[in-house]
Amino acid sequence: MLYDAAPDRYDSMVYRRCGRSGLKLPAISLGLWQNFGGINPLENGRAIIRRAFDLGVTHLDLANNYGPPPGSAEETFGRIYDLDLRPYRDELILSNKAGYTMWPGPYGDWGSRKYLVASCDQSLKRMGVDYVDIFYHHRPDPETPLEETMGALDYVVRSGRALYAGISNYPHEKAAQAIQILRDLGTPCLIEQPTYNMFNRWVEDHLLDTLATEGVGCIVFSPLAQGMLTSRYLGGDIPADSRAARPTGTLRTSAITPERLARIEQLNEVAQARGQSLAQLALAWVLRQPAITSALVGASKVSQIEENVAALSNLSFSDEELQRIDAILA
Ligand code: NDP
Repeated sequence: MLYDAAPDRYDSMVYRRCGRSGLKLPAISLGLWQNFGGINPLENGRAIIRRAFDLGVTHLDLANNYGPPPGSAEETFGRIYDLDLRPYRDELILSNKAGYTMWPGPYGDWGSRKYLVASCDQSLKRMGVDYVDIFYHHRPDPETPLEETMGALDYVVRSGRALYAGISNYPHEKAAQAIQILRDLGTPCLIEQPTYNMFNRWVEDHLLDTLATEGVGCIVFSPLAQGMLTSRYLGGDIPADSRAARPTGTLRTSAITPERLARIEQLNEVAQARGQSLAQLALAWVLRQPAITSALVGASKVSQIEENVAALSNLSFSDEELQRIDAILA
């Protein structure tokens, strides 16, 4: 079946400037960490990506190790790109990363120039593209000099493998150093990708201020706490098709404690009073931060991406709502 992207795909999506760069990202982006691996049905992933693009989600996020098995999400993307997206390459922002274990031996992990450049080449091949838009170092490496890792990102950009450089999971001091090194090299850091959601507020301490001051964008992963901040587990059931129930899922049922469930129920009441679902409240809440460019969600169903994008129709909060949420999370 030939794919024609929806003509109205740019009508309602919100695009936000990524730091002080020239690039804008959709306020909701889609990640392929789970549900797009070799173990997942291609047609489901294909339907999710098509629907997302039709809704104006122009940014898809990948990494070398997404699957399972590692590398297979890139291959899935490559097939969908061939089937549907190739005519739209210039309307897409594709990102990739290296930094976690990818192949055996000393050159398939962490932050050496050897690993990053080789991994980027492998990723481009599996995705079937000539370049990615953003290439990230996936996590800080305590042993490799930061100058080497940032030098590798600069090289990846200068050699045409990527258009922009990014960092992920960098704490604020290390982020500030990385940003300075990249600036000195002439390849400014476009973006940082940390985790942020109602249950994990670590970026509020310093990181968001650092990024705002430096003019670096921020895309936050797991804004729904892997599904806990949605209707998925309301009432305490663990649905058979949920991430918590799947053997390959990364959400432990032990994370869904009675105490957490009680907070989830209270947050759901706040959401209902706003006329939103819990997922929509959770997304609007992370996007209330001006330093945050985009909320990077996952989805196992087309209906989830639809619900999540619809969060954008109500992004404002009253002081009372924010205080109530703080009190629930305290
Ligand atoms: P989320 O917190 O958005 O969790 C996504 C999961 O929540 C879905 O797979 C689905 O789970 C459930 N869900 C989503 N929307 C809804 C909805 N409306 N109603 C009910 N359930 C819903 O993000 P992820 O943890 O998936 O991470 C998103 C992306 O962030 C990744 O794909 C990846 O690109 C990136 N990431 C980056 C990391 C890094 O180190 N840089 C680490 C982790 C992620 P279910 O299967 O139960 O339906």
